Amino acid sequence: MVKGFDVLVAGAGPAGCAAAAVLASRGLRVGLADRAAHPRFKLCGGLLTAKTMQALARIFGLGEADLVSRGGLFHKTNNYFFHHAGRELTRGVAAEPFRFIDRAAFDALLHASALARGAVPLPGREVAACDAAAGTLTFRDGETLSAQLIIGADGANSVVRRAVGVDKTAWRGGLAAAIEVELPVGGGPGWFPREVPAPELHVGAPNVPMAGYGWVFPGPRGAKVGICGLTRGLSRLSRSGARGERPFSAIFRDYLAMLGVERPESVPLRGHPLPYGNALARPYAGRLLLAGDAGGFVEPLFGEGIFYAIATGAHAATAVLRAFSRGGNASDVVGIAGIAAREYQGLLDRTVRPEFVWSNRLRWGLFFAMRHFGAAPIKGFVRAAPGPLAEMVHGRRSFRLLRPKTWEWGAELPG
Ligand SMILES: Cc1cc2nc3c(=O)[nH]c(=O)nc-3n(C[C@H](O)[C@H](O)[C@H](O)COP(=O)(O)OP(=O)(O)OC[C@H]3O[C@@H](n4cnc5c(N)ncnc54)[C@H](O)[C@@H]3O)c2cc1C
Repeated sequence: MVKGFDVLVAGAGPAGCAAAAVLASRGLRVGLADRAAHPRFKLCGGLLTAKTMQALARIFGLGEADLVSRGGLFHKTNNYFFHHAGRELTRGVAAEPFRFIDRAAFDALLHASALARGAVPLPGREVAACDAAAGTLTFRDGETLSAQLIIGADGANSVVRRAVGVDKTAWRGGLAAAIEVELPVGGGPGWFPREVPAPELHVGAPNVPMAGYGWVFPGPRGAKVGICGLTRGLSRLSRSGARGERPFSAIFRDYLAMLGVERPESVPLRGHPLPYGNALARPYAGRLLLAGDAGGFVEPLFGEGIFYAIATGAHAATAVLRAFSRGGNASDVVGIAGIAAREYQGLLDRTVRPEFVWSNRLRWGLFFAMRHFGAAPIKGFVRAAPGPLAEMVHGRRSFRLLRPKTWEWGAELPG
């Protein structure tokens, strides 16, 4: 049994790898546990924004060339399209490119980077329970490991999150259902009928819940087609407003048909929940901090999660480092845990949370306007501010009324 970790990280996706990379590079003994072994599949559109590239450079020392050679980067483009009810509404050219990666290769590269910095891999270790007060993780095989602090980064279906005592109803209320498939491009049943050179966002498609949207992205092996939507919004916000709506899988097949996919019923579907406006107010308890999807840290308008996973993983690690350095005596665990939680909350309050508050307002404003006035408000909004909108997504502007950013992501990381 491996003993003597300062910090245990549960989950080796972008959040867990970022946390482990920051901590291990500062000399802490970090165990990085995941139920899978990399490379592993993760359902995802694989779109990276400019702020993600900044974070990758700052935290992992990775640049575009690394992503191309080892991180599954297969496409980049500055173009984007907005569609409403199947018709192109508007298109734009962003000042900075959108990049597309294959998640299996990308996550494996982040994992390798964290290990290169000294994190100890614990692959094939599925966490079954976390005791936040004791600082332990118990694995499915029955073994229990302890550490002074724990970072829970085990994704949207987090097991570790249970130790924080989350209000399940509120959590589920902000959880979107998401379905995504990758289709080969060409003619024939189950194929996507055209090339996809740039990302497309689809709103107002028949039956797609209005508290959600669809996308078509370039994929490494074809076209990635997906939808996400708040399931509680299915009856409340869908077109008909009627109860007993079609199941989400049927809605997805309607969407495929609208996009021109023949025999959509022949396409095998894959789904995964997406936190969509349910970032936890207190993502910590005892010796535990939650990062990434486990804490609900996904941006509530576009559903971007990779950047926020990396950012909150790094924030959690920064909070831990501050706690160890300010807590002084390592045996003063209550002091260390208290400082880590306070520092983490402070970092989130200064960076991620204000952005989420404003993106959430924008989202409900747009959904409300679309419900009552159709495509016109979206069209007006997107056409009036195409440049600032893209800058907002890339992290150059704030979601707060599209104001220029006055702070840099990553500036708060220890040098
Ligand atoms: C359909 C879909 C499309 C998306 N498209 C995009 C996109 O284009 N761009 C974008 O930025 N975001 C996108 N997202 C969001 C993004 O995928 C997530 O926000 C991001 O992966 C979160 O990273 P994470 O590290 O928190 O969790 P994850 O990436 O989910 O990693 C969690 C890790 O924990 C492990 N794990 C889980 N349970 C346990 C356990 N019990 N014990 C041990 N290990 C465990 C898993 O194996 C996994 O490696 C999309 C999400 C979905 C569902």
